[in-house]
Amino acid sequence: MKTVLVTGGAGFIGSHIIDRLIERGDRVICVDNLITGTRENIKEHLSKPNFEFVHYDVSKPYFTETHIDFIFHFASPASPIDYQKLPIQTLKVGALGTHNMLGLSKQHSSGFLLASTSEVYGDPLIHPQNEDYWGNVNPIGPRGVYDEAKRFAEAITMAYHRYHNLDTRIVRIFNTFGPRMRKNDGRVVPAFINQALNNEPITVFGDGSQTRSFCFVLDLVEGLLKFMDSKEHYPINLGNPREMTILEFAKEIIGLTDSKSEIIFNPLPEDDPKVRQPDITRAKNILNWEPKYSLKDGLKATIDYFKKPQGNN
Ligand code: UDP
Repeated sequence: MKTVLVTGGAGFIGSHIIDRLIERGDRVICVDNLITGTRENIKEHLSKPNFEFVHYDVSKPYFTETHIDFIFHFASPASPIDYQKLPIQTLKVGALGTHNMLGLSKQHSSGFLLASTSEVYGDPLIHPQNEDYWGNVNPIGPRGVYDEAKRFAEAITMAYHRYHNLDTRIVRIFNTFGPRMRKNDGRVVPAFINQALNNEPITVFGDGSQTRSFCFVLDLVEGLLKFMDSKEHYPINLGNPREMTILEFAKEIIGLTDSKSEIIFNPLPEDDPKVRQPDITRAKNILNWEPKYSLKDGLKATIDYFKKPQGNN
């Protein structure tokens, strides 16, 4: 039995990782300060003997005598609305939180996986984005607090790998969706689905020609577990290369929900990336991973979630 510590474990992706770790028999310590995560996401595990919840902000030093075999460092606000509301916390958890978790990893010689992001590519000038691209980020723009925190997090992770020989991994996660996203986190998937379910106007930003590529969370988690079990230290993109415009996506949601919503056009937020699509060649070659869920199946599961009372958190 491995002991795995998941920061941000009460959040959207973190809680899905925990489900799979518990299912395969690992012992899990979930550390979360609940500023964007919720107990609701982990409630089925709270009474289990191989699960422990620690209500704590990993931007402060954290040590434990319990031996840790592996750390998933997933704590961070992740929606553009959240990280602009919580800019200092976002910078701190990306910088200090990552430093603290690398310290814990050094103490226990544990494996370490950093949740990085496609945002390290900024508003990309190459398309699709592969891991060799260094990005096009505005450090002082509204998204800089997240983008630069994650870029720093990648740099310090590589430094601990190179100078302390830590067994680190870096995943760059592209747009991911599924049950347990927060209804009001401002991201396009929960926003459009909830607008459509309530027959309210669908708020497309700009003219809707910007593109995104959406990966279902259960596909992502399979990739993360394969990455955990690998020995690759350089970044790997995980995401679904199925690219579409935001306007196409709005129409897809209206169709799947049988909604009477109209589409309205609101101003495009500053520095909103115009295109985004992962090149997943490295994930295919190194991890033997690629996404399996169709967009429709993933969206149906997500729509069902938002129809239920627990989808209202
Ligand atoms: N978006 C939109 N309407 C919304 C929310 C988002 O048109 O109500 C657009 C947003 O401008 C961006 C895309 O959808 O181009 C994805 O936004 P999201 O906040 O989900 O994440 P991002 O990929 O920008 O980090």
